[in-house]
Amino acid sequence: MQRVEPPKSIGLIQVFTGNGKGKTTAALGTAMRALAKGWKVAFVYFDKGGSHYAEREVLADRFTDLVSVYPTGLDRIDPITNKFRFGVTEEDKTEAERGLQIVRDLFKKGEHRLIVLDEINSTTDLGMLSPDHVVDVLHMRPDHIEVILTGRNCPESFKELADLVTDMTLVKHYFYKGVPARDGLDY
Ligand code: ATP
Ligand code: MG
Repeated sequence: MQRVEPPKSIGLIQVFTGNGKGKTTAALGTAMRALAKGWKVAFVYFDKGGSHYAEREVLADRFTDLVSVYPTGLDRIDPITNKFRFGVTEEDKTEAERGLQIVRDLFKKGEHRLIVLDEINSTTDLGMLSPDHVVDVLHMRPDHIEVILTGRNCPESFKELADLVTDMTLVKHYFYKGVPARDGLDY
């Protein structure tokens, strides 16, 4: 009788996408569980320069032995006007490529068991990275590394490659009744 191998259960690819809130926080929640088990976790942030993300302080400062944080991208919030900058410049693309190179290096080192690529979906959709290059890099990862890809407008090729895809559906968001992003809850 032919033996049926169980499906691979570590080193999977998870995608959190969609317009509803919860993509990055789902990745953070998963990371918290991994940390509880003593896993090493890396976060590579795409298109998310700037310092206004509360979780980075907790992650990098309180779990120094287990967590590595790599912010890439320019700050999209103008420090003077506090306005969001739309559009993609050559510098944005260079920063995104720098992020992808960090991912290649992390895969080569193989030290982390969970690697979160925060906002890589939207960064790719906006043309800062080639989806084919990202897929090539994902294929390079060692078997033991679990990867989480977050961000809206996930490219189809990422979904095809993934083992889990969750589409966060926007039903309501307080933002649309004028409540701005809240420190400590939304960032
Ligand atoms: P979170 O980081 O809260 O899990 P997210 O990763 O799902 O949110 P992003 O697209 O990364 O969502 O959005 C970043 C910021 O915008 C966060 O402050 C988030 O709370 C807020 N946000 C999320 N979804 C929406 C939405 N549909 N409309 C407006 N703002 C949103
Ligand atoms: Mg997010």
